[in-house]
Amino acid sequence: MRATRAVIHLGNLKSNIRAIKSFTKPGTKMCIPVKADAYGHGSVECAKAALDAGTDFLAVATVDEGVELREHGIKAPVLLFSLCAPEEIENAVSNEIIPFVFDGEYISLFAKEAERQGKKNYPVHLAVDTGMGRIGCLPEEAPLMAKKIADSGLFLQGTMTHFATSDSKTPSSVEYTKLQFSRFTKALELITQAGLNPGIRHCANSAATLDLPETHLDMVRPGIIVYGYDADEVNSEYLSKKGTPISLKPVMTLETEVSALRPFSKGMSVGYGRTWTAEEETDIAVLPIGYGDGFVRRFSKAGVKVSINGKNYPIRGRICMDQCMVDVGKNSGVKRWDKAILFGCREDGALQTADDIARLTDTISYEITTVLTRRVPRLYVD
Ligand SMILES: *Cc1c(COP(=O)(O)O)cnc(C)c1O
Repeated sequence: MRATRAVIHLGNLKSNIRAIKSFTKPGTKMCIPVKADAYGHGSVECAKAALDAGTDFLAVATVDEGVELREHGIKAPVLLFSLCAPEEIENAVSNEIIPFVFDGEYISLFAKEAERQGKKNYPVHLAVDTGMGRIGCLPEEAPLMAKKIADSGLFLQGTMTHFATSDSKTPSSVEYTKLQFSRFTKALELITQAGLNPGIRHCANSAATLDLPETHLDMVRPGIIVYGYDADEVNSEYLSKKGTPISLKPVMTLETEVSALRPFSKGMSVGYGRTWTAEEETDIAVLPIGYGDGFVRRFSKAGVKVSINGKNYPIRGRICMDQCMVDVGKNSGVKRWDKAILFGCREDGALQTADDIARLTDTISYEITTVLTRRVPRLYVD
């Protein structure tokens, strides 16, 4: 295996799920998204670990992601969070992937295919758009759509919505989440008043799961916190102050090793465009990781550091496709083949997390782990 690898601590993933479960009432179901290769952590292994820890549903964003789970023997119910193309519906239905639906055309496409495959009462979830502006029918259309689902021979297994601002604690965000939740409650009432059963009611993402117990209803859908990162402002500090502390452990450590140590004299420059030149003698460590691995180019300018033997060192020059260079200074004691940690768990020697890199580079932890490419082997440990 190459030295550049993502170590995936499945034990931490399970411990995060157990910690999250303590925020919900017994009997509340849990749906864990393993979309985008489990936020970059590896969907099949993370799905299996999540099921071990007592998850009820898994979720994917594409039919192919769902098929991958099935091909690895995973039998648990799988929700499809995004819409698929009409030509994918056959595969979705034959693999028992449960779609979010919200309009007549899409409902009848699934109903026809389920009938064609002889599957009675094929389950679907009704998506209600309460203010995310992505997928879903308007709250007042919910009973009509629920009726369409029933009339077409499908089974309304659940009804969902998704929050746009639950991870922010500014007054206007808090107000907006309340408004979304009241619209959702209204839609559920309308469905019941029409004599239909909304099924499993679910809306809570990571932030709402930890912060807004009234939104848990029948099932929660936490994502980023399962992988060990904060849900933005609903972070560990906020939760401690609130009196409901949680200890989340990062699941991924991204590591590599020093593949060469190069003595530099004054005036020698590093990398494309010569953006850095040594002003004095120093040692430059070459690391076999670059933007081809998802260690993206803008990290160097943003001041992202690399930890070697418990100390942080600056990246010099531009990150290349396959390599980057780090300034360890003179007499650092760093040796060739020493381990270098880009981010991850403290117990692996990481001095920063994906959250720290996200803050420096004006993005969110989701993106830092999700963009790691296939070239980075995932090494699963307990
Ligand atoms: C991705 C996703 C989630 C999980 O969101 P987090 O912010 O990672 O908790 C929940 N629900 C839906 C519909 C999603 O697409």
